[in-house]
Amino acid sequence: MLIAGNWKMYKGPREAGAFCRALREADLGGVDVAVCPPYVSLADAVQALAGTDIGVYAQSCHWESEGPFTGEISAPMLRELGVYGTIVGHSERRQHFGETDETVARRVDAALEHGLYVIACVGETEAEREAGETEAVLGRQVSVLDEDDNLVVAYEPVWAIGTGKTATPAIAQDAHAFIKSLLDVPVLYGGSVKPENAGELCSQHDIDGALVGGASLDLESFAAICRAAFPYHS
Ligand code: PEP
Repeated sequence: MLIAGNWKMYKGPREAGAFCRALREADLGGVDVAVCPPYVSLADAVQALAGTDIGVYAQSCHWESEGPFTGEISAPMLRELGVYGTIVGHSERRQHFGETDETVARRVDAALEHGLYVIACVGETEAEREAGETEAVLGRQVSVLDEDDNLVVAYEPVWAIGTGKTATPAIAQDAHAFIKSLLDVPVLYGGSVKPENAGELCSQHDIDGALVGGASLDLESFAAICRAAFPYHS
């Protein structure tokens, strides 16, 4: 059971360091925990969480190790900082920054090759769900990924991200079972996870944890989500 906090473009280095120092002391119930700060805050997070089991993940990484790619960061650079893993293919990157299944695959392969753990995000839009295309979309997004011990998929229905609309546990369970029928890796659920719904979601057979956006920015709510998921920890 992994609970990962995606901080998106929130918390600069000072705030990230203070949050992580407080996280060290928090009651997280015994689940596996990770935080995903913005690039500029990674070093402070790594330093503040040194010697703990809490992983620090980036929010993306480039497929080349170095080169003329202004604004990008590579897997070896993240490793040099002591970063443990990275998110790849978040729907906000697909929506706003031109991320495609092909670039997701290249980023995932490079990150794994350089020893990073990867949380690869997939998920359908509301229009795709309403058109009955959920499985076709998930199938296409998952088809570019290969099984790997260090790979986790996050099922994040786009209509549930930052909207307050959570997938019902049954909808999430169905999507997770479908993804696992294609790829034998742990699957996290993401989309408006809160302390109030985390337990029921994580109790579903094929839900192996959560990728939490908004509710991970507040220490109390993030810790409460971790504790709610713990009974389903394996
Ligand atoms: C996310 O950013 O991955 C996410 C799931 O966001 P939220 O929890 O805010 O919906």
